[in-house]
Amino acid sequence: MCGIVGIVDAGGVSHPLYYALYALQHRGQESAGISVINGDRLRKHKAQGLVAEVFDPETLRRLEGQIGVGHVRYPTTGANTPENIQPFNFRFMGKGFAIAHNGNLVNTRELRSYFEQAGQIFCTTTDTEVIAALIADELRRSGSIEDAVRLCMSRLRGSYSVVLAYDGALYAFRDPLGIKPLCLGRTARGHIVASESVAIDALSGTLVRDVRPGELLRITGDGVSSTRITKVDRTAHCIFEYIYFARADSVIDGVLVYDVRRKIGKRLHEEAPADADAVCPVPDSGTAYAIGYAQASGVPFTESLIKNRYMGRTFIMPSQAAREQAVRIKMNPIRKHLDGRSIVLIDDSIVRGTTSRRIIQMIRSAGAREIHMRIGSPPIRAPCYLGVDMPTREELIASCRDEEQVRDSVTATSLHYISFDALIEAIGHPCDNLCTGCLSGCYPVAIDGEHARAREVEFLDETLQLGLDSFGGTA
Ligand code: AMP
Repeated sequence: MCGIVGIVDAGGVSHPLYYALYALQHRGQESAGISVINGDRLRKHKAQGLVAEVFDPETLRRLEGQIGVGHVRYPTTGANTPENIQPFNFRFMGKGFAIAHNGNLVNTRELRSYFEQAGQIFCTTTDTEVIAALIADELRRSGSIEDAVRLCMSRLRGSYSVVLAYDGALYAFRDPLGIKPLCLGRTARGHIVASESVAIDALSGTLVRDVRPGELLRITGDGVSSTRITKVDRTAHCIFEYIYFARADSVIDGVLVYDVRRKIGKRLHEEAPADADAVCPVPDSGTAYAIGYAQASGVPFTESLIKNRYMGRTFIMPSQAAREQAVRIKMNPIRKHLDGRSIVLIDDSIVRGTTSRRIIQMIRSAGAREIHMRIGSPPIRAPCYLGVDMPTREELIASCRDEEQVRDSVTATSLHYISFDALIEAIGHPCDNLCTGCLSGCYPVAIDGEHARAREVEFLDETLQLGLDSFGGTA
């Protein structure tokens, strides 16, 4: 997980980067950072905490420049230490570069050891530093970022959306399968590349399009150019972005996330209608699903849990005990909406089962008679190696339990998970173009000890150079 953004703006980038990171805060709450390049000078500010805690007017004022990158971190690999906070600034052969990355590599260890054998040292335990080392390795030989990204794509295995400020330009690239999202937008005085389109909206910009899998964009004050480095028959967009991770108001790979969730809600009603007085979401992740279910069923949409908006996501709590306590602080039931009633309770997913069990207990103690749980994803049965913090099989409640056993464990009156086919239909991309590893246990890249249907990646001999017009004019 993590959110990234890169901006080129004639009027300065520090404030636009700050607003964009604010819009991407849901993608990571552990730390935030901004790096800005001004001629040859690199400046950065980064720290642990939420965007609002990390920056103040004075730090933003000092980050002067017309090109910059930003990052919010949600750790999947690498310890929670100050060195691991992104973006990273490097100096290489007299030039500075700043880099930020979203995704997870599955061959970091071998790449790291390749460099270590050659005597290179690392300052962090992140994948991002390995990507930077590969880029520097090729820049040393050819001096071309296009070649460096080509080398990266041939060596990296896993998911990576990257923004990079170097030598008077912003570069952005996405792995050959397009696993993690990345999109391009136009603003009044420049361009923005970000993990989700909500960051473009935050700057009153216009979404131009998604960065294509295997594509490298180069953005300067004069506009945008594109190099297609690889081609695949089948992409592998992360299905969990649509289910939970992305904001509902984002458009990812051409699809509005809200629409997907509302359609799933409708299908949940068709697949598992319930005789109930109210349809209640688990806020906020269940809201769009519950609206779809309520519209399809005619049962009134009713808020019965109110979320404390000033708390981070429960998953970032360090221990199981802390997570359990956190659920109670995070949500409070409205007794009047629940007492003596039968409800349909809708959430996006069940991972460990902790949240659902605690919520059901809370709702039952507030007087609910029946709790029919409906879930917007199929059972999550396998870990994610490609960028979502999804625990081991032992911790996943559905990895070794059937639907009835999960129902029993979370103590719902009834339970239904959306069918796999209905989920795919709601997203609208062919199943073969999605990464469904967490649901199917079959991954789009080879992973030691796991089942894979690895996609064939073809490297293009002739890179396709797109002119400025295809990006809606110059900055
Ligand atoms: P639990 O079943 O207790 O593990 O919690 C599942 C809930 O946490 C889901 O309903 C989501 O709203 C949320 N969730 C799911 N996956 C993640 C994740 N990787 N990181 C943070 N929260 C998540």
